[in-house]
Amino acid sequence: MKRAQLSSLCLVLFLTSGVRAQRTTTPRDDLVVLKPSRVWTGDERQSQAGLAVLVRGRTIEAIKPVADLKIPAEARLIELEGTTLIPGLIDAHTHLLLHPYNEATWNDQVLQESLALRVCRATNHLRKILLSGFTTIRDLGTEGAGYADVGLRDAVAQGIVPGPRVLATTRAIVATGSYAPKGFAPEHAIPQGAEEADGVDSLIRAVREQMGKGADWIKIYADAAMGGGAVKPSFSLDELKRVVETAGSAGILVAVHASSREGMRRAALAGAATIEHGEEGDLEIFKLMKERGVAFCPTLAAFEASAVQRGYQPGRDPIPPRLQRSRATFKLALQSGVTIVNGSDMGVFAHGEGAREIELLVEYGMKPLDALAAATTVAARTLRLEDRLGRIKPGMLADLAIIKGDPTRDIGTLRRVVLVLKNGVVYPVP
Ligand SMILES: [Zn+2]
Repeated sequence: MKRAQLSSLCLVLFLTSGVRAQRTTTPRDDLVVLKPSRVWTGDERQSQAGLAVLVRGRTIEAIKPVADLKIPAEARLIELEGTTLIPGLIDAHTHLLLHPYNEATWNDQVLQESLALRVCRATNHLRKILLSGFTTIRDLGTEGAGYADVGLRDAVAQGIVPGPRVLATTRAIVATGSYAPKGFAPEHAIPQGAEEADGVDSLIRAVREQMGKGADWIKIYADAAMGGGAVKPSFSLDELKRVVETAGSAGILVAVHASSREGMRRAALAGAATIEHGEEGDLEIFKLMKERGVAFCPTLAAFEASAVQRGYQPGRDPIPPRLQRSRATFKLALQSGVTIVNGSDMGVFAHGEGAREIELLVEYGMKPLDALAAATTVAARTLRLEDRLGRIKPGMLADLAIIKGDPTRDIGTLRRVVLVLKNGVVYPVP
């Protein structure tokens, strides 16, 4: 969307929502001054009143007390009472090309929905994610939609569709026979939701091919329930090490899906940058991850969503055993001091509901400011983007969210996003 279109949309938003906007005589869309009631820069233990932020082009030029900030005459002034300005949120585990399984089963999405349909739907997902305050996502696998995430990433970057900055992993890598769709007669070859590879040579080829086609990260599944039984490791430590080494020599990091204790252990020893889910993690494994600098991406919202899709009603029904386990595991992770990065597995549940993960981080024992950090400063560091993203300070990209209320005090206010900026472009929330 062009800046001019956005400004007129923005003005409408302010007029209809009662939020006050002031415009100077000749406002420029690439020069914006934000005056919220409070600012949380990512660095303090509380939000601060009386600050204003000057955005020039794509970047934050200044953050100063209102009285000290010289507001250029041509700047577009956005004054938003009762709001808090925070760094744009980051979700390190999404699936743009999935939609909730109560709308269509995962099998049907992978086998029956056309690529064109899935991509069209994903453009809606992109918009919803951005307008819910998330300005960067790491999309962890297209689930049968090939390299479509690369095209979606580029469509956002080129301004063709609105959306968050996307880090693409493309197809994800699984051991032969370990993934899905499953349950068909064995004589049929069923297209899989990820790329199968086995043994060092085949894995190296898969990693290089995915990087060649545009992967920003590599995702690999360290374990699976092979015969429908318990989840067991699917790759040897040596295989995982070579994946990390191959990606690493190209400057690319590896996210490892691991639920079993042994899968997590191998992933940590192999040099994974993040471990996803980690349901069977114990204190020793989380300490090993901490020691090895591996971040934990707990995807609590996905566990909850799966239970909800089976009829569980949060706050009404007793907590189902699998959720009790993920809650207990999360407490061990907290206790260990391992880095916890916000990642929700959005797509399993509705896009645009990413705040649920941050709410659950708090509900399961994290302090609200630590949960906010997991979705901003810590996520930026985990994704190696801390020089550009995750904080409000001069020189950083102007990725920002304006929230009605103060999420540093009440995490529930993250649902009340008023305005989002990404790369300095203003996106009003309808
Ligand atoms: Zn996932």
